[in-house]
Amino acid sequence: MEIVSGGTMPVLFVGHGSPTNAIEENEFSRAWADAGNSVPRPRAVLCISAHWETNGTQVTATEQPGTIHDFYGFPRPLYEVSYPVPGAPELAHRVRETVRGARVRFDPDRGLDHGAWSVLRRMFPEADIPVVQLSLDRAKGPAFHYELGKELAGLRREGVLIVGSGNIVHNLGVIVWEDTAYDWAVEFDETVKRLILSGDHDAIVRYPDLGRAARLSVPTNEHFLPLLYVLALRDKGDGIRFFSDRVTLGSISMRSLRIG
Ligand code: ZN
Repeated sequence: MEIVSGGTMPVLFVGHGSPTNAIEENEFSRAWADAGNSVPRPRAVLCISAHWETNGTQVTATEQPGTIHDFYGFPRPLYEVSYPVPGAPELAHRVRETVRGARVRFDPDRGLDHGAWSVLRRMFPEADIPVVQLSLDRAKGPAFHYELGKELAGLRREGVLIVGSGNIVHNLGVIVWEDTAYDWAVEFDETVKRLILSGDHDAIVRYPDLGRAARLSVPTNEHFLPLLYVLALRDKGDGIRFFSDRVTLGSISMRSLRIG
């Protein structure tokens, strides 16, 4: 792991997929571990996960966030996982100060959902880097989330690693429990990849205009929105590297990327 250099932190988007990735040794969990090893050691992590939607924007402000097992019907060992990281109430305050486009409220009790801990326990297994989560305001459209993401830019220069956790393609209604991919899922994943590389964020924010593949790939947008926060944080000159890049389970894109 690089030592903090006082420079600007990279930003990560992680396709988290099945909760079982939290405990399985597979190509995805290994890629997350490598991504964690490849970034400078953060002062704290700010995670925007698909699995915390609220009315208004909220931020976790607890000293010791619990591990929330917010999934059903999975193997028992997954319910026994704990990720006992500290919180960072001072970062929660910083987020509230920094964000001007929304009134950010503190949640003094909320722990970490599996979108956050399934990924972060692989990236930072020592559980010694404080974690704060920012919620998704379910009443707001994609452009709001993209603009809110921009307001977090200053945190990158303060040693905070911002991690979006969702999936570019996420359709549980047609999921198949095997390693396969629908044509429309591959099509939409490739389209978004191309738009990310060309820097056409406007087209990504207006994803409903991308037609049938987009409608099938993003039937509800809570897994897509964390990507918008991450893209909004791209500075001119930041490189982009994909560290997982394929669709599995028919309708889940595991595509993950590092900016900067
Ligand atoms: Zn999820």
